[in-house]
Amino acid sequence: MEIEAIRFALEVICKNTFSTSVKVTIDEISALARCRVCQKEYNLENLCSLCPYCSAYDREILKVKELWVKAVTIE
Ligand SMILES: [Zn+2]
Repeated sequence: MEIEAIRFALEVICKNTFSTSVKVTIDEISALARCRVCQKEYNLENLCSLCPYCSAYDREILKVKELWVKAVTIE
């Protein structure tokens, strides 16, 4: 999902709720993986990412990509 699309949707929802313009800040936390070959942890840019240390594909996914709504500011 596009962050901009989510942010826009949240702003529309908040605007309808509070009848005023709002600012929504979203943090993107990337996926974390551990290489099974060299045991190093690295961020997954996408599902095709290779280990940046040894270029291996064999890895364990530690954390999936997630989004945090950081702040909603009512102006
Ligand atoms: Zn590796």
